[in-house]
Amino acid sequence: MVIGKRTDKTKIWKLGNHGISEVDHYKYLGVYISRNLNDHFHIDNVIKKGNRLIAYIKSIIDNCNNLNRVYYGNILWKAIALPSINYACSVWCGSSCDTDKLERLQLQMARCILKASRNTPRTALYGDLGWIPISDLQNNFRINFIDRVLKMEKSRWPRLLLDSLIAFNCDFNDFNYKILSCIENIFKKGNANDIFDCIRNSKDISNTFWPSAVKQALSEASIQNWSEEVTSKSSLSDYITLKTIPNLENYLLDNTDFEGVNLKFKLRSNTLPLEGRICNWTPECNGLCKLCSDNCKENIRHFLFECPAFNEIRTDENTRLKLQLQSFDYNEIWELFINGNSDVKLQLTLGSDNYLFSKEVMNILDRFCKAYVKRLWKKRSQLINKENR
Ligand SMILES: [Zn+2]
Repeated sequence: MVIGKRTDKTKIWKLGNHGISEVDHYKYLGVYISRNLNDHFHIDNVIKKGNRLIAYIKSIIDNCNNLNRVYYGNILWKAIALPSINYACSVWCGSSCDTDKLERLQLQMARCILKASRNTPRTALYGDLGWIPISDLQNNFRINFIDRVLKMEKSRWPRLLLDSLIAFNCDFNDFNYKILSCIENIFKKGNANDIFDCIRNSKDISNTFWPSAVKQALSEASIQNWSEEVTSKSSLSDYITLKTIPNLENYLLDNTDFEGVNLKFKLRSNTLPLEGRICNWTPECNGLCKLCSDNCKENIRHFLFECPAFNEIRTDENTRLKLQLQSFDYNEIWELFINGNSDVKLQLTLGSDNYLFSKEVMNILDRFCKAYVKRLWKKRSQLINKENR
C-alpha cells in the first residue's frame, strides 16, 4: 500500500521475481488503514459488522420467549457488540457523518430491544435504557489511550508519534487524518484546555489525575446534552418530568410481562399511537378521541385518566391499587394518587424520579400501571375494531 499520492503509476512492486499487487486498504491488527489515511473504509466495515451483530442479538431475544429481552439485549449489546464496534477506536476517528452512522446502529439496537416504533426519540430510548451515545463512550477509551501513551518512555514509537503530532500541531491535512483535532476536541469538551496546553508544551502531567477529571466533565456534558435534547422536544414535555438522568429503569426488567413493559415505555415516551399523536403526521386525522363524545384530544392524560369509555376499568384498577397500598400501610400514597392533579397521577402511574418510594411501593405502582394500561389498550382496540366494522 502506498500512502498518499502515487506519482509514478507505472511502477510495479516485486519480491524476487514475484509481482506484488498494490492495494488501497490494508487490515493491520484488526484496523483497516487506507492509503488516503481517512477512516471511512474502516468505519464502513465496522457498520457492516455491527449490523450482523444486531441481527444476531435480535435472533436470540426474539426466539427465546422465556428470557427478558431488555436484560439480555442490554447485556449482549454491551458485552459482545459494543466491544467489537469500538475495537481500537482510540486510533481511528471518522467524520461527523461516520459518527452519525455509528450512532444509528445503537439506536437501531435500542429500538429493537424495546420493540419501539421508528419515531421514538433517541433520548427516551437511551434515557430508559441508561445508554450513552457511542461517541461519548469512544471518547472515554481515547482518554485512557492518550493517558497510557503519555506514561510511556519518550523513546517509544506511540509516544514519539503523539509528541510530534502535537509539537508540529499537524493534522496531516493533506491526508485528512484528523486524530489531533479529535484529541483536542475531547479536551475542549472535557473543560481541560489547560491540560492540553500542558501536553502541547511538554509539561509533565503524570502526577495529575486528569483522566478521571476529564471523564467526569465529559459525562456531565453528556447528561447536559441529553437533558437539553429532551427539553427541546415538545413531544417529551411529560417525559422530562419523569426522568432527570439516563439510567436503566427497573420496570423494563420484568421477566413475565413484556407487553406491559412495551406499553409503559410507549406511554412514557409519548409514542403510543393515540389519535392526538397520529394527527401530527396524518392530515385527515383531527386528533379527537373517537371513543367518547367529550370532543377531547386523545392524548395520554385523556386516555389514562379522563376518557369515560374506560370508567369501568379505571374504577376497578383504582380499587385494586387502593387495597394493595392500604394492605401495606401506604395509605398516604393512595391519598396522594387519588387526590393528585393529572401531573401527579401521571408521574405516579408511569414512574418518576420525583417520586421515589420503597422497592415494595415501586413494585405495586409498576404492577398497577402495567395491568391498567394493558386493559385500557385491549379495550380501546376492541372498541375501534367495532367502530370500523
Ligand atoms: Zn375519550
